[in-house]
Amino acid sequence: MSRTERTQVGIVGAGPAGLVLAHLLHLQGIDSVVLEARGREYVEGRIRAGVLEHGTVELLDEMGVAGRLREQGLPHHGFELQFGGARHRIDLSGLTGRHITVYGQQEVVRDLIAARLATGRPLVFEAEDVSLHELESESPRVRYRHRGAEVELVCDVVAGCDGHHGTCRDSIPDGVLSVFARDYPFGWLGILAEVAPSSEELIYCWSERGFALHSMRTPRLTRLYLQCAHDEEIEAWPDDRIWEELHARLDLDGWTLGEGPIVEKGVTGMRSFVVEPMQHGRLFLAGDAAHIVPPTGAKGLNLAVADVRVLAAALGAWYREGDTAPLAAYSETALRRVWRAEHFSWWMTTMLHRPPGGDVFDAKLQLSQLAYVASSRAAATSLAENYVGFEPDPA
Ligand SMILES: Cc1cc2nc3c(=O)[nH]c(=O)nc-3n(C[C@H](O)[C@H](O)[C@H](O)COP(=O)(O)OP(=O)(O)OC[C@H]3O[C@@H](n4cnc5c(N)ncnc54)[C@H](O)[C@@H]3O)c2cc1C
Repeated sequence: MSRTERTQVGIVGAGPAGLVLAHLLHLQGIDSVVLEARGREYVEGRIRAGVLEHGTVELLDEMGVAGRLREQGLPHHGFELQFGGARHRIDLSGLTGRHITVYGQQEVVRDLIAARLATGRPLVFEAEDVSLHELESESPRVRYRHRGAEVELVCDVVAGCDGHHGTCRDSIPDGVLSVFARDYPFGWLGILAEVAPSSEELIYCWSERGFALHSMRTPRLTRLYLQCAHDEEIEAWPDDRIWEELHARLDLDGWTLGEGPIVEKGVTGMRSFVVEPMQHGRLFLAGDAAHIVPPTGAKGLNLAVADVRVLAAALGAWYREGDTAPLAAYSETALRRVWRAEHFSWWMTTMLHRPPGGDVFDAKLQLSQLAYVASSRAAATSLAENYVGFEPDPA
């Protein structure tokens, strides 16, 4: 069985980028079909990011999808930098007038899926063998299989929002994209523990044993990370070893980390990656499909949302006024924020992680940088404005 369908914007991927784009288009009266390779339960349960920039929350609010986020999200007005046996607060709100909100990515995705379904517009889960065709024509096509039927979706444009391992980026002919990448020789071992956070704020911790991060998802769920080898086997880390190492890095005189049952654990490698341009013909890449950052700067999810905000506005101008300029400039516009976030994420990562084989010289440079950030209002403001996110876009 096969059929042909038609839409204005074919969106591949129902992560934050695809779902935010779909809703922003809906609000402008633009049709889209969202195709997602996985099932709804899987997508809604995928635990990833948790720090939302000020502008991300404002956008979700304007879109009318921030009801639960406003109720359950945890506003954070600062975070701690820990090094040399002491903590130093970075006063995000005092330095920038803005703050961040801690709210799990899976909750954002859940809210967006509910909003999409409420519009009655199509969101196809378990779309198999998605492939892109005729991208350089005025009617690009997305072919996929769903419940045994072969479907050809004829679109005006295609949005590739299918993450770092998706298919859209690879559909662009060889020689079009330039790739800029850096692999880091370490990763993060992350856990989710059923225990109240031990600190009200995030703690980014430099230690001679390697980086650690104390974070949280809710008042009863703590998220903790340890720097580990990039190819670390999770089996080598029974729960006792994880807690022992977290205590060794994070505990201070008079402060100890609270423990609880570990309900999720995994290892994430770390990579910086950007492709340029983020568009080819009628295909526009957004989010992790076009770029990834190491998670130290908490930028991945926020960048995905920022990309599609630019893309939705450009598509709106095109459909409403026939103005092609914003769409033609999409990649250039989005890449300004992308590269700012790439630099910030690289900078936070290199300041806080111990490189394998790193010597005392490396450590002294890192500690000097940390002491500068903690003691200079100018340096702390630079960190804070990058962390809460630039509004408007960085120059
Ligand atoms: C394990 C992990 C931990 C992370 N932790 C953090 C963190 O702590 N902080 C932070 O800021 N960022 C973190 N990130 C990054 C952040 O989660 C991403 O930047 C964010 O999810 C990007 O959103 P996206 O919509 O671009 O891509 P994704 O969320 O990856 O969504 C892409 C969607 O496309 C679907 N898809 C893939 N291929 C196809 C296909 N062929 N056809 C149809 N659909 C397809 C996928 O199933 C997925 O639902 C983490 C990422 C990972 C992988």
